[in-house]
Amino acid sequence: MDSGERAYLAGHRSHDPAYLLRRWRSVARKAKLRIIDLKSETPHPVVALCNRHSAPGGGLYLSAGIHGDEPAAVQGLLQWAEENVCFLREQPVFIVPCLNPWGLINNRREDPEGRDLNRCFDRPEVPVIGAILELISGREFAFAVSLHEDFDADGIYLYELARRGESLGPGLLKKAAKTIPRHQGRVDGRVPSDGVLRRTRGMAGIVSEIGGMPEAIHLFLNGARSALTFETPSEYSLYRRVQCHVRFLEGVASLVGPGNGGTG
Ligand SMILES: [Zn+2]
Repeated sequence: MDSGERAYLAGHRSHDPAYLLRRWRSVARKAKLRIIDLKSETPHPVVALCNRHSAPGGGLYLSAGIHGDEPAAVQGLLQWAEENVCFLREQPVFIVPCLNPWGLINNRREDPEGRDLNRCFDRPEVPVIGAILELISGREFAFAVSLHEDFDADGIYLYELARRGESLGPGLLKKAAKTIPRHQGRVDGRVPSDGVLRRTRGMAGIVSEIGGMPEAIHLFLNGARSALTFETPSEYSLYRRVQCHVRFLEGVASLVGPGNGGTG
């Protein structure tokens, strides 16, 4: 462990959503993003961020913390945003920085009502989900990115929902794989190829199999050219897991950033 990692692990406040929200407010000010209250049922505010002015291009949907026991995803998205204020000022983005703050405080996957919010994207009656569905209705994104962690994984991996003939997943994992290697072995009964579980069809079957609509599938079926669910292994050092999320986001941003027309 180097001194940077030691200092990070001694000082992080990754289960403190109020502190995270203060940092997001600072990002929003600098990047001229609007903060929208998603009207959570819990005492903890749940917000989304989007551009104040419409920006050209397909843009990014970025989300973390839908599962409260996956803190590196929340930290990684925030750290990447703090390091990429210019990008956020210029590119169309819709960001959900921490969808389940109660879960983050209590280190729980589900929300206080025991719901897995990542099976609720077909349930607009769940207030925070209904608010997101309304805000993104009719919007197109080049990429929808959902950041997660996995207790069973021994490395990083990616679910890639994409059109036939389009595959960016293996390239996107390259930088993060220098920090934590790719997962070896099966995920949901399948062996990832180069760390990537790719699908182009059969979404309805997955939804009925897992008992609800995940964020990524909803986005893929409703306006996202590609939907990426990135996972880091929960038992690695928090510092390295956060780095992986930052590296992964850098890769995605480079595909839509200045000098690149994007894919949608
Ligand atoms: Zn998760």
